[in-house]
Amino acid sequence: MSDSDKTSGTKPRVVVLGTGWSAVPLLKHIDTQKYEVVCVSPRNYFLMTPLLPSVSVGTVETRTVIESIRSLIGPRVKFIESHCINVDPKAKIITCISDGEQTVARGDNVKAVIAPSGRTDGASSRIIKDSARVRPEFQMKYDILVVAIGSENNTFNTPGVEEHAHFLKELLDARRIRSAISDAFESAMTPTQTVEERKRLLHFVIVGGGPTGVEFAAELADLVREDLQTYFPRLVANDVKITLIEALDHILSMMDKQISDYTERHFHRENIDVLMNTFVKEVKQREVIIQLKDSNELKSLPCSVVVWATGIKARSLTNKLREIIGLNIQSNRMGLLTDQYLRVKGIDDGSIFALGDCATIQTPKLVDRIQSLFEEADTEHRSALDLQQFRTLVEKKITEFPQLEIFSKSVEKAFTEADKEKSGYLTLAALRSTLEKADHKIRALPATAQVASQEGRYVADLLNQLTDTQLNHFEQQNLKPFRYKHMGSLAYVGGDEAVVDFTGSKPLLDIFKLKPMSGRSAAYLWKSFYLTEMFTGRTKTLLAFDWVRTHVFGRDISRY
Ligand code: NAD
Repeated sequence: MSDSDKTSGTKPRVVVLGTGWSAVPLLKHIDTQKYEVVCVSPRNYFLMTPLLPSVSVGTVETRTVIESIRSLIGPRVKFIESHCINVDPKAKIITCISDGEQTVARGDNVKAVIAPSGRTDGASSRIIKDSARVRPEFQMKYDILVVAIGSENNTFNTPGVEEHAHFLKELLDARRIRSAISDAFESAMTPTQTVEERKRLLHFVIVGGGPTGVEFAAELADLVREDLQTYFPRLVANDVKITLIEALDHILSMMDKQISDYTERHFHRENIDVLMNTFVKEVKQREVIIQLKDSNELKSLPCSVVVWATGIKARSLTNKLREIIGLNIQSNRMGLLTDQYLRVKGIDDGSIFALGDCATIQTPKLVDRIQSLFEEADTEHRSALDLQQFRTLVEKKITEFPQLEIFSKSVEKAFTEADKEKSGYLTLAALRSTLEKADHKIRALPATAQVASQEGRYVADLLNQLTDTQLNHFEQQNLKPFRYKHMGSLAYVGGDEAVVDFTGSKPLLDIFKLKPMSGRSAAYLWKSFYLTEMFTGRTKTLLAFDWVRTHVFGRDISRY
């Protein structure tokens, strides 16, 4: 039996899958005197994902947004660069292989990996076989498993997306986009290009008006205005076009309406065409096919670079685990359903935790909690509340469940809907039925870095406090369940402007009465936030230098 097949016996072994937003805070804070900690991930660095749009146009350089996982966690945690492909919750064993490379059988059940085509040396196009990349498959036992593997891009099975569109989730995606933008401009300069072809080459399409799509469109508009205009003045004046396509009736729909409206007006000033109520049906090599809401007509938009940012879905390991656990327990939710301590539901001994994008936390049944709040608010014991009392109830409810933001946004609407008799009063039964309907929308926490990092820190603290590693007796041990504290949402919208939404961030709202912010002041907040969020002095310094360099010298537009 190899070293990894058994736990050391002296300390319980915690295996953490992932090196992202929830895994890193956990790894940094977990007590390694108490646990033997092993981290397994195909990525040996932490990636500052919110800065990927900046990397894709060269505002910020590649090495600025990554930090080696080993330098972040030190030798106290063992790191293995590998890809977990299976979990056996009964035997408490994970199976891992190397990531993304062709696996070649080498006999004796030992598998070695080589790069499928090797890497190419740019200058001479020689193929170099990577003999250093040999990773046998292995299995490892765990006492506690933390699944923090994030999510992947959701194409909603739209034809052509995998083949022709760029995603913006990994560092390689950002580098490819940077290269493709450069390619489009260099191709447009070829003397024999027709006007029509030049316009196609310089039409950049972004699909999805969530924060990823919006921030990329903003960075691209900055690149065009601040740098490409200098080097390609005629192309920029006559042919360049940026289009952002969104299926809903506004962009940044998860933020306050004022912010969506502001961003739409700002994008108009920045020459970004925003097509709302428009659905992308297919991506082809030289065009995207769109359909307007309430219309059967399909339209073609000739374009070159397409960036696909329509949201996320579960990774195959998450789906595999859901299958092992049994879909009846896990229902149709996207991630692994967890209890309030972030333990995966359906694992009887409570030995698997799930955090971040791959998890969906289940709060105690919302409507039951609301019933007790309703009774408290109903001081006159009439089993009915008027609008003012209802508003107070919602305010109170949001402090307890920040994820109810969606419901609070349409408070008056919810009241009118529930008050079917138009009596001006809302009965408990009517409120319950409205909440039941809204329940599926408001149960899950957003898939953000903020949620993931709070969850990672929480599980580290929870494991550190455990006196008894009986993981299914948390209630008796008086441990505090996870509570998410929303600190607001930020997005960069270009032209040195950003938007900040504090909706749902109750502590800040109460103390400072903060309103949604937009413009330059919001951009300073955005920049200070990311500068402080960078994990190390090295990346903080690199980021500050990159911003100054871009401001003084412009972006490097060469393709490499
Ligand atoms: P998203 O889910 O937030 O937005 C995707 C958008 O694409 C939606 O508005 C949807 O209506 C639209 N869409 C889907 N299919 C479409 C189609 N075929 N045609 C046109 N439009 C279509 O996705 P995201 O922006 O990738 O973000 C993913 C997650 O990461 C979210 O939870 C988000 O909040 C988070 N995130 C946050 C930040 C930030 O706070 N600054 C930045 C990036 C990502």
